Amino acid sequence: MASNQFMDLDQNGKVQAYYIWIDGSGQNFRGKTKTMDGPITSIDQLPEWNFDGSSTNQSTGRNSDIYIKPVSIFKDPFRRGDNILVMCECYAPDGTPHPTNKREECKKLMDEFADEIPWFGIEQEYTMFDHTGKHPYGWPTNGYPGPQGPYYCGVGADRVQGRKIVEAHYRACMYAGVKIAGTNAEVMPSQWEYQVGPCEGIDMGDHLWVSRYILCRVAEEFDVVISFDPKPIDGDWNGAGCHTNISTKAMREEGGMEHIVKAIEKMSTKHDEHIREYDPTNGKDNARRLTGLHETASIHDFSYGVANRGCSIRIPRQCEKDGYGYFEDRRPSSNCDPYAVTSIIIKSICQ
Ligand code: ADP
Ligand code: MN
Ligand code: MN
Ligand code: MN
Repeated sequence: MASNQFMDLDQNGKVQAYYIWIDGSGQNFRGKTKTMDGPITSIDQLPEWNFDGSSTNQSTGRNSDIYIKPVSIFKDPFRRGDNILVMCECYAPDGTPHPTNKREECKKLMDEFADEIPWFGIEQEYTMFDHTGKHPYGWPTNGYPGPQGPYYCGVGADRVQGRKIVEAHYRACMYAGVKIAGTNAEVMPSQWEYQVGPCEGIDMGDHLWVSRYILCRVAEEFDVVISFDPKPIDGDWNGAGCHTNISTKAMREEGGMEHIVKAIEKMSTKHDEHIREYDPTNGKDNARRLTGLHETASIHDFSYGVANRGCSIRIPRQCEKDGYGYFEDRRPSSNCDPYAVTSIIIKSICQ
């Protein structure tokens, strides 16, 4: 990473706002920069903008403008100073939410059930690939690393790859104001996890999307590609998920276990609907991961249990001991849209 002598030049009172949106894939994001008079202290200072939807698989060439509406602001750890990252929602030319905009409905639901004070925490798993995006970062050029076992939470050059990226991402999230909660090396070599949360309501989606942008952007500096594919390597290698931890105010208080079990039972009758929302391909991607092996439950069955990592939903041991707390939905895929995931959960347990 060569330093760039121009980057400490004064900005003359202007700031750079990097607008981020979700593209037609429902899982990748795009972004572009706008100069603004600084400093920006509120979302109302940021205008709507647009982009060419025919280049992002979000519209046809003849009516190609898609509108982006700023919805939340973070500090920009790359440009620093008063420069900002801006999470946006996509709208079609007629003003209706674009089909890739899952946030609009999510926000409505979170507002409707705000009294329940829903908290979420998402464990984002991902895999590092080399610059080609095809070869897992640090894996031998020919063949495979030794079998899984020593890598989870490992230390040492023979056990973990890419820690510099992990540390840079962690610090950059803290700087940005993303509620990163922790990180760990995963079961498959070059696979990692970080957690974001607890976040209230709509913040979960905003914070997770921005944390993903920061991750991909940090990795770019290291010539590494981040994959959110839920099963990047076939065979006896763990997949990647987005375990989603959930609680409402009632669940966090004395006697909360009753509310937790009630919520899980409501969710149990809607397994297929949840699976459809838990990856951007209505369950196809996740079917490669949720096999019943490698700490997953089969995509075809719903199950729950205390401390059981082979279930769809796990109640943490500590929560059972205390009699209150939260529960973990282990089904969402690493490439899920957190707005879609938190929407269906709130719908199932609160409506
Ligand atoms: P695991 O044991 O499944 O690996 P982690 O420690 O990786 O769990 O992640 C736990 C997640 O749960 C964190 O993101 C944390 O913010 C979140 N969390 C903790 N308490 C709550 C709560 N009361 N409601 C919702 N999420 C919570
Ligand atoms: Mn975890
Ligand atoms: Mn994990
Ligand atoms: Mn987990």
